[in-house]
Amino acid sequence: MKRTIDTIYWLGAGFSRESGGPLIKDFFSKEGDLNKILEHKYLNDQMYHRFNYSKLTWFYDRFKSFVGEEETTIEDFFNFSQSAQFIGGQFKRANISYKANTIHKWLTDYIACFINDRIDYANIPEYYTKFINHCFNNKSAVITFNYDLILETLFDKIGASFNYNQNRSLTSLRQGITSVTSGIDYLKLHGSLNWMTCSKCKKINIFRSINSFAFSQRCRKSNCNGKLRLFIVPPVWGKNKYATLLKPLWKRALDLLENAKRIVVIGYSFPNYDLLALSLVRAAVLINHALQIEVVNGTKSDYSKFEKTPEVICNKIDFKDYASTL
Ligand SMILES: [Zn+2]
Repeated sequence: MKRTIDTIYWLGAGFSRESGGPLIKDFFSKEGDLNKILEHKYLNDQMYHRFNYSKLTWFYDRFKSFVGEEETTIEDFFNFSQSAQFIGGQFKRANISYKANTIHKWLTDYIACFINDRIDYANIPEYYTKFINHCFNNKSAVITFNYDLILETLFDKIGASFNYNQNRSLTSLRQGITSVTSGIDYLKLHGSLNWMTCSKCKKINIFRSINSFAFSQRCRKSNCNGKLRLFIVPPVWGKNKYATLLKPLWKRALDLLENAKRIVVIGYSFPNYDLLALSLVRAAVLINHALQIEVVNGTKSDYSKFEKTPEVICNKIDFKDYASTL
């Protein structure tokens, strides 16, 4: 029987903030110091990544020195590296050239480590549990652009099952995962820190947790033995590289949005580089005329973009206070 979804929670980086999650401006900041990141045993080859990071920051400083102040976030640098890949650009330092996709890969590793380091999974505030209980008991679904495992941790805590909506034939489960294929719809449209893709067969391997063990693994599919790579989609203009694996998730998101009563956006500001996310909402609204949209982006956020659309309800409170109303 098809379950009708009343509310879809649409989560961005601001949602994870109160559990320690970083915002765009935090990357490459002093707080993002590499030594702190690598103390966390996320990467299995720390020397390798330490060396790459020193090169990465060198290129980032170089990038900053020739573009305007307004365009020097990690998103800008990511998009530049993607454009450079497209036009075949290279990065050169001390007479050694690096392909743009190498820089792109280092950047992806860096944001994964940084996010993972910042979130304190053992001390997620109690109101997050309240929120997830509410989702589970009230015919809700979750669409997220976050890579972290905050909600996985909470689903485990309350004993709720969730559905990643990954194509079973593409997915291998690891380390005691019993089910990620039934229960509340949980769509991670930009991938996840516990998802790895195989370099050879492209199958997604899903891990229970994040650790260096995952990074040294080989694909589980028989006769494959391909190398596993982190599957997260960075905030870039082109998603084609990820299209085959992501498309079913985005399609499922649209199906849900077309039949839902309302969306509650929490901590997501529809950044320019995520045009696809904005298009997803627009495509849903074209079909589902009664869809209500509420935005809960905290007390410090700029709502002017949303206020241009009279139908959007701006609920200018922090997630903590929002959760207490559920
Ligand atoms: Zn494989």
